[in-house]
Amino acid sequence: MTIKLYNTYTKKIEEFKPIEKGKVRMYNCGPTVYDYVHIGNYRTYLMADFLRRVFEYSGYKVKQIKNITDVGHLTQDDIEAGEDKILKAAKRERKSPIEIARFYESVFFEDEKKLNILPAHKFPKATEYINQMIEMIKTLIEKKYAYEVNGSVYYDVTKFQNYGKLSGNTIENLKNGARLDIHPDKKNAYDFALWLKASPEHLMQWKSPWGKGYPGWHIECSAMSSSNLGSTIDIHTGGEDNIFPHHEDEIAQSEGTSEKKFVNYWIHGRHLMVDGKKMSKSKNNFYKISDIEKKGFNPLAFRYLCFTTHFQSQLNFTWKSLEASQNALNKLYNFIRSNDVIAKSEATKQSLNYMQITKNYNKQFQQALENNLDTPKAIAIIWEIIKSNKLDHNLKKELLLKFDKVLGLDLDKIKQDKIKLVTKFKIPIGVKMIEITNTTGEIITDEIRDFIAEREKARKEKNFIKSDEIRNRILNKGYIIEENKNGKTIRKK
Ligand code: AMP
Ligand code: ZN
Repeated sequence: MTIKLYNTYTKKIEEFKPIEKGKVRMYNCGPTVYDYVHIGNYRTYLMADFLRRVFEYSGYKVKQIKNITDVGHLTQDDIEAGEDKILKAAKRERKSPIEIARFYESVFFEDEKKLNILPAHKFPKATEYINQMIEMIKTLIEKKYAYEVNGSVYYDVTKFQNYGKLSGNTIENLKNGARLDIHPDKKNAYDFALWLKASPEHLMQWKSPWGKGYPGWHIECSAMSSSNLGSTIDIHTGGEDNIFPHHEDEIAQSEGTSEKKFVNYWIHGRHLMVDGKKMSKSKNNFYKISDIEKKGFNPLAFRYLCFTTHFQSQLNFTWKSLEASQNALNKLYNFIRSNDVIAKSEATKQSLNYMQITKNYNKQFQQALENNLDTPKAIAIIWEIIKSNKLDHNLKKELLLKFDKVLGLDLDKIKQDKIKLVTKFKIPIGVKMIEITNTTGEIITDEIRDFIAEREKARKEKNFIKSDEIRNRILNKGYIIEENKNGKTIRKK
């Protein structure tokens, strides 16, 4: 059993070898809690969750740390403007920075639960690691990697020999690229802030050997990673935009301090896109988990959607693709709920043939996981099992329930009838809204909603020929619309 992963550092798919036998130390760059975490961010957290589940499925013990950035996360522009994102939000919402951070953090925890993302073993908060950051910065100054100017401390990128190894942005390449205006305090244009002097009105500031100030964003992760997992860790994850400068700078800080290798495997997920552009808060082209729920989707449909494309390929988000994922999920749920019509006896179940087929599927599934987290393949195997005419219905269910330990699609809850597939939606008929109960839970398309509205109108006008004709059109689209004591219901044929 060997898990192979694509390592951004070496640009190769490598066999995973743990630092400590049977154990994985993993750090995930977590959310900045100044606003809602969007589904693009969750794509990256779903990758980390899947990674953890694959290791656990394969018998490893994982220690997973996911930080909460509740101060900092300064971009170059923010530094120039002297403002961090949480402070901006505090001003915008007229709340204290702590209130802002705690509110968005609580929504984040709820969303992660809805997506079946297993809670990390610890969620360290940047504001609780200021001392550790200061200690690291002190060491970096002693070792001449960093310098202090006017109450701020910068990292001198020319001092770190391996700078640029992760991202390809070596000093030379940076110099050949876009010119940066040199900040008056910096020795080199690409030096980055470890500590920033705070102006008196700055809301979040701490005492330090260099006067009152606040930390840069990158130092937070270096400090929280080493404090919780030690100087060298197995895996560090993030989205592709974290590669530079965030992770490049983390390496410079952590290796500068400890003189040891910081991370053995760097795993980065590609972005979730909308209309060909990265989903991001600044572009205002993002959706929240509550947005997808409002449209009647189960957040797990988004989890399923993420599995349909490999994490290291871009995924373009569309409502149509989410709808297809919801429908696939419902099919899966209906399969788990359904009973075998011609149940095979226990004796047949034990037959050699069945055992061999089950073993093969188990092997194929495990191989898909180990092959750099090939989720599209894993999903394809699920459907192959469902369609197979060589396996008994209950054996199929057993396999799927086992695989769901990694997929996390709630199949077990479905089996125990803990999730209702029923959804309700409303459509406007004239000035009124009528409620329709969907007893099989699929997303009802706009086309069918329009048919329902048209049919209601015809019924009101007592044009029963027309209403029957529209009912048949709905039937042709695969849905049965009925009237019973529960009101109007629609269900998949
Ligand atoms: P941030 O709060 O901006 O630091 O982002 C949190 C995490 O989400 C980081 O690991 C980012 O790389 C990742 N991320 C940001 N935008 C996207 C996106 N559109 N798709 C996937 N991951 C993203
Ligand atoms: Zn980070």
